Amino acid sequence: MRNISIIGSTGSIGTQTLDIVREKGDLKVCAMAAGSNIKLFEKQVREFSPAIACLWDEEKATELKKNLRDTDIRVVSGMDGLIEVATCMRADIVVTAVVGMIGIRPTIEAIRAGKDIALANKETLVCAGHIIMPLAKKCGVRILPVDSEHSAIFQCLHGEKHNSIARLLITASGGPFRGKTREYLTYATVEDALKHPNWSMGAKITIDSATMVNKGLEVIEARWLFDVQPGEIEVVVQPQSIIHSMVEFEDGSVKAQLGTPDMHLPIQYALYYPNHLPLSGERLDFKKLKSIEIDEVDRDTFRGLDFAYLSLAMGGTMPTVFNAANEKAVALFLNKDIKFLQIYDIIEACMKRHKVISNPTVRDILAAEADVYAFIDEMKWS
Ligand code: NDP
Ligand code: MG
Repeated sequence: MRNISIIGSTGSIGTQTLDIVREKGDLKVCAMAAGSNIKLFEKQVREFSPAIACLWDEEKATELKKNLRDTDIRVVSGMDGLIEVATCMRADIVVTAVVGMIGIRPTIEAIRAGKDIALANKETLVCAGHIIMPLAKKCGVRILPVDSEHSAIFQCLHGEKHNSIARLLITASGGPFRGKTREYLTYATVEDALKHPNWSMGAKITIDSATMVNKGLEVIEARWLFDVQPGEIEVVVQPQSIIHSMVEFEDGSVKAQLGTPDMHLPIQYALYYPNHLPLSGERLDFKKLKSIEIDEVDRDTFRGLDFAYLSLAMGGTMPTVFNAANEKAVALFLNKDIKFLQIYDIIEACMKRHKVISNPTVRDILAAEADVYAFIDEMKWS
């Protein structure tokens, strides 16, 4: 029996992780955390009986504590609570399925406590990859990617030498607006942007897919996870989301990982690495699959990718600014306070005014985030 902690159990990745726990029967959830969705969280806590349950929202946590009086589950809240879940003594592996930069501190503490990390929370690596990866090495823990593209690359690199990598080819579906013009995007609604053609995901990442910011975040994530330079990472469009990503080696050989678009697979692989265990669900049917389409990214229209490469080139706190500006802009868009294309305007404005701090500490990263948020609030974009 392996013990796991989950941060973000009520979300898209969190609930799919729990599907696997349910199906496999040899994983025990020892601690779990969510933001504020008390209804689902209480249901999950009652089903999986962890020793510790954290709701970020203090009031909701107090309510949960009352509701769980009939159990001996310890209910905690806030950042201290998240860290308690991340460092739960019994946990062998921590699934970071929380959305946003809130994941940075719990991930760092989990690593310090010697836990392997099944990492979905890409924002943490984007902002603090230079801290996370060396720390993981020092503490002897594994960072196991959950993001499907990175899981694909991780699988392709299994048994390969790092110095034989020529480049990583990250695939993008192109999202709901593939092939659309800037004019079209001017009037794109929240409802349009939430209609992802292949993947069913949380709201924030679905908007990030529509802007291509998600792919940008994944380029930065790949830079840290696989210790490659930005020039060695390329993005290609694969509209069916069947090729999850590829690696080209020095001799021109290309390895790809294929599968149906189902996040259960990369989540399960991270939990059971390096084993490919049975998994229910649809399989690729090569008799029906007539072709695999590949296309170029329209970087002029979908500027999310260029901002990501620029932030990587500038380094230090700039990827944090890119990410924080995007987090806030997406929240404003989801709230219908701004138009779709203004997401890019906000990112650009925040990056332009920022003075980079190189090799930032966690404190510098959080200060850069706070500064971006204050600037966006001041600008009154809505
Ligand atoms: P969702 O929005 O579906 O879920 C987010 C989860 O985080 C929820 O459980 C939410 O709780 C919890 N949460 C939010 N804020 C807090 C907080 N302050 N403290 C504790 N928990 C909090 O997101 P996804 O599952 O889609 O994405 C999670 C991460 O995984 C993101 O970083 C995303 O980029 C990445 N990812 C997701 C993929 C996917 O297929 N969904 C694919 C690859 C990567 P509550 O419900 O209570 O608000
Ligand atoms: Mg992905």
